[in-house]
Amino acid sequence: MKYKELYDYGVRRLADAGIEENALDARLLLESACHTDRNYLLVYGEREVEPEEQERYQGYIEKRKTHVPLQYITGGQEFMGLVFEVDEHVLIPRQDTEILVEEVLRHLHDGMDILDMCTGSGCILLSLLHYSNGCSGIGADIERDALAVAEKNAERLGRQEPEERGGLNCRFIQSDLFENVEGTYDIIVSNPPYIPSGVIPTLMKEVKDFEPLPALDGKEDGLFFYREITSHAHKFLRGGGFLFFEIGYDQAEAVRHIMEENGYKDITVVKDFAGLDRVVYGWKERDRHV
Ligand code: GLN
Repeated sequence: MKYKELYDYGVRRLADAGIEENALDARLLLESACHTDRNYLLVYGEREVEPEEQERYQGYIEKRKTHVPLQYITGGQEFMGLVFEVDEHVLIPRQDTEILVEEVLRHLHDGMDILDMCTGSGCILLSLLHYSNGCSGIGADIERDALAVAEKNAERLGRQEPEERGGLNCRFIQSDLFENVEGTYDIIVSNPPYIPSGVIPTLMKEVKDFEPLPALDGKEDGLFFYREITSHAHKFLRGGGFLFFEIGYDQAEAVRHIMEENGYKDITVVKDFAGLDRVVYGWKERDRHV
């Protein structure tokens, strides 16, 4: 079949299955199956597609029809202008999380040490290291399968080899929150699971049926991880160091309160592009335990 015919076929199949972004998804799946780019449809739509590419594409369409997220089929997601590998063991990096990374970057200086708690694909830590100089970072996650993805992403983006300069200076550790974390940091950042357990069944199929539940579930009121991380972070944060969280749109006041109770200073809420509260951060006073 011709490239354009395959595209039309995919759009139709996905639309019939109730996939909303059917045109975009069909194009992206076709590009992934054929290793083409977005211009190909316009310029080479009349070209015949190799049988094995066609077969691969048809397999992708069948998968997407069952609501498997596009990114788990193509295996990648762009975040902060970088491409991250993803699979079903990690949350797909969200555009909202770029707000968190941008905010941390405003406070990040050369040579700082960063801890990314609940690192998942590693997208937060690796972006921070990519866009800074001489910083080093630890990414912690309870899930070994997630850490394997983060490790792959570190390799892809150019991890620093021992004795080498340049490259990303990072390490990933398996840890139930701070259990296996050592040392102190200038920045602790986290996009923890924050959806209240009761809300998860109301999420779209792509999320609730395919993204890893432990990466979504913030337990009873969605705030479990904010309480845990905030109350332990002070031991691992240097004086003057910052604690940054991504939050759900309705969690700013609750998280601000948790941080206040734990002695953090100048607690600030940052909105995302939709005007919703998305990031909360504060800092730890010098020379005093908070
Ligand atoms: N830190 C990862 C991300 O932002 C994973 C977050 C999570 O699993 N809750 O994508």
